[in-house]
Amino acid sequence: MGKSCRCDGNRNGDPDGNPEKKNGEDSMSRVALVTGGTRGIGAAISIALKNAGYKVAANFAGNEEKAKAFEAETGIPVFKWDVSNYQACVDGIAAVEAALGPVEVLVNNAGITRDAMFHKMTPDQWNEVINTNLTGLFNMTHPVWTGMRDRSFGRVINISSINGQKGQMGQANYSAAKAGDIGFTKALAQEGAAKGITVNAICPGYIGTEMVRAIPEKVLNERIIPQIPVGRLGEPDEIARCVVFLASDRSEERRVGKECLR
Ligand code: NDP
Repeated sequence: MGKSCRCDGNRNGDPDGNPEKKNGEDSMSRVALVTGGTRGIGAAISIALKNAGYKVAANFAGNEEKAKAFEAETGIPVFKWDVSNYQACVDGIAAVEAALGPVEVLVNNAGITRDAMFHKMTPDQWNEVINTNLTGLFNMTHPVWTGMRDRSFGRVINISSINGQKGQMGQANYSAAKAGDIGFTKALAQEGAAKGITVNAICPGYIGTEMVRAIPEKVLNERIIPQIPVGRLGEPDEIARCVVFLASDRSEERRVGKECLR
């Protein structure tokens, strides 16, 4: 598979877009866990996976109001814990597995920004972003990895960022963490391959979520959007479709593993 992909699977999550294929044929009994799965890109991923036939659990950090509204609207159960805390991840994953079964698809989507020019960046801003956006991947993947190896099946999909590939001023912390996510993905993909586990990273450009809407409008309109070839922010659904493809059993047949979709 090349470095870019249109991810045009049909609404049932069949990467071939095969209308004969039943809804979620290869995924009916699989459990998918999406971190930061109640808002923004993560919410779109949770819903797309549910629509593709997965049993989905959505994790969140602290925005109870959004999480409860999401649960009520979608029927997807929500689980609160902080991905930057290893023991919280172990306990949270145990709660998900007790409710739904072993996690076979893990989407490491939770992420934060604490932007500042480097000369003004505080150690707290650095540590919060590294601990959530990079160490969070270790904390979440490590507790599910042995089970995936034992079952000879697993899908780990990490949401990195274009800014981990090209760097971004005011985001030394975020760019470092997201670049680290790519290295983590590539190393783990090599370990997982022989065990039926694929590990992939998606590196979205700017997507119209609350994270991006927090950027001053002037910066968005004058500096960011003009650099986007299609002249608009991306939609969360566009990322969710890529995740459904990478989660599918058949993505492995296409030797997908450790590529970055941009
Ligand atoms: P949002 O800010 O809209 O949502 C972030 C989600 O992550 C929320 O559900 C939030 O929970 C959760 N979260 C944050 N910190 C933690 C934590 N410590 N533990 C558990 N959950 C946490 O972000 P986006 O949807 O915009 O971004 C999603 C991912 O995509 C991030 O990793 C981001 O870096 C990446 N990305 C985003 C781009 C964009 O343009 N938006 C571009 C490229 C990459 P709660 O609701 O409780 O706060």
